[in-house]
Amino acid sequence: MCGIVGYIGKKPAFPILLAGLKRLEYRGYDSFGFSVLDGKKPFLFKKTGKISQFEQEFPDPNGEIGIAHTRWATTGAVTDANAHPHFDCKKEIFLVHNGIIENYQEIRNQLIKEGHKFNSECDTEVLSHLIEKHFRGNLEEAVRETLREVKGTYGIAVVSKRDPQKIVVARLSSPLLLGIGQDEFLVASDPAAVITHTRQVINLDDNEIAVLKPGNFFILKEKPLETIEWERGEAEKKGYPHFTIKEIMEQPESLENTLKGRLLINEGTAKLGGLEAIQDKLRKIKRLNIIACGTARHAALVGEYMLEEYANIPAEVDSASEFRYRKPVLDKDTAAIFVSQSGETADTLAALKEVKQRGLITLGIVNVVGSSVARETDAGIYIRSGPEIAVASTKATTSQIAALALLTLFLGRQRDMALVMGQRITKELAKIPELVKKILEQDVQIEELAEKYKNFDNFMYIGRKYDYPTAREGAHKIKEVAYVHAEGCRGGELKHCELALIDENFPTVAICPSNSVYEKMMSNIEEIKARGGPIIAVATEGNEDIKNLVDDVIYIPKTLEMLTPILALIPLQLFAYHSGVLRGHNVDKPRNLAKSVTVE
Ligand code: GLU
Repeated sequence: MCGIVGYIGKKPAFPILLAGLKRLEYRGYDSFGFSVLDGKKPFLFKKTGKISQFEQEFPDPNGEIGIAHTRWATTGAVTDANAHPHFDCKKEIFLVHNGIIENYQEIRNQLIKEGHKFNSECDTEVLSHLIEKHFRGNLEEAVRETLREVKGTYGIAVVSKRDPQKIVVARLSSPLLLGIGQDEFLVASDPAAVITHTRQVINLDDNEIAVLKPGNFFILKEKPLETIEWERGEAEKKGYPHFTIKEIMEQPESLENTLKGRLLINEGTAKLGGLEAIQDKLRKIKRLNIIACGTARHAALVGEYMLEEYANIPAEVDSASEFRYRKPVLDKDTAAIFVSQSGETADTLAALKEVKQRGLITLGIVNVVGSSVARETDAGIYIRSGPEIAVASTKATTSQIAALALLTLFLGRQRDMALVMGQRITKELAKIPELVKKILEQDVQIEELAEKYKNFDNFMYIGRKYDYPTAREGAHKIKEVAYVHAEGCRGGELKHCELALIDENFPTVAICPSNSVYEKMMSNIEEIKARGGPIIAVATEGNEDIKNLVDDVIYIPKTLEMLTPILALIPLQLFAYHSGVLRGHNVDKPRNLAKSVTVE
């Protein structure tokens, strides 16, 4: 969630830190700060608000070593004092932190007894004072001793005037990578911050400490270099007013990338290199648990329907935040699949650790290469949708569903899926990017629809079977970006509760493509109409009859029932986006939310 950038090299650090932080702005933050060592008095600047508000005021400090941070407050209010970097009593040690120190209160009380003076209410500050307490001439040793005492999660970067020619970094359950350049090193919580300098990175593992010095660096374990595949321009808006719409519009390409080289049409299966090494183990799997949070959980729900119907494997979807605390019954023939765009979602990672302890097979479906979920699972599928910058997920969601369809083919063909069925699914999947392109051409009409409905403060989204998760995700999207209350409901459950809400001020979006539950959806639409509720239908092209029943129709092309959610989500994403813009909201960074949810 928060962003960390650090630089050590031959160039002035401050402009590099500033540019790096700006590339992390998409994550959402409430305050920011910098610290640069210039050989004499360390420079410190920290403020609440957006970086752009203060750019004119920034002094230009000298110094080739520095750290910077954007904060998303977890502990302590959003104030200048609580912003990072935090420092020790003598203002000689400076530290930025992503994560939460769970036992900070206890440590703080003890340090106060020992005479330390605190400047903030933030949990992070205990780290700078503990380092001060343990400092005996070597910064990394003091950091190591400090981390032994803390409970919680952290990605940290530390500099000190007392051991000035280095940055010490460490992580536990918070992402942190080192950028390895020519005569310069960076540290960052996200590849976006280093990509303008170098593509050579080392992802730190949990419990590792790295020391960056002018001209060399070391970590406790030797790690291989990895290469970031993203193009620089991919993390820019490319002429679109917002990242959200850019990413919605990119879906024909992002889906193409997810599927590229993976569809074996003749064999009616999917080629998934990441799963080959464990394919014999996967053949024996009898149950699947799919674990995810937020939007990824909706993609997982589509996966549950697909895997049960076509791979014949019982599947159950869990919210990672619940899974980690309940006592799931997992027998040895179960495999657990973890779905996360960033691969750093804290709850998902914690659930993964829990499952690993039980010795089960773990699979990851992630976007960010080298992320924690990717590294900690036994095998997996990269969705390859490119950097997703907007907080509300769009292109990663549809790629997650496509990846789950590939997994269904792979596991289904290992079992009793017939060749012809496999061929049908692969052929339909191959057409999906083109069909998505056609739907995107309706952007203007969907914007008009958003204009028509922009003053409604409540929406019902309904669907059945594969499109129940679509309804959930449609509601989720409009809540996130337009701050409109919405419910995602199973068409068949309406009559048990939600129908009570319906009147002329409570419109419904009904996802009702022509499929096996179409007639049932028609009955649900009738029930709503009888109560005077306005209805927007998402229906299959050619269905003219539906116009007699509902107020507005958005058409999507015909595809296999299991793939409909990918198509039906596109207009729902556009509708949410335009509603958010028309209601005057910052759609890319919805209030109170952040990308890559690295706290519990
Ligand atoms: N727990 C720290 C704070 O409240 C770090 C939060 C973050 O990850 O941005 O400032």
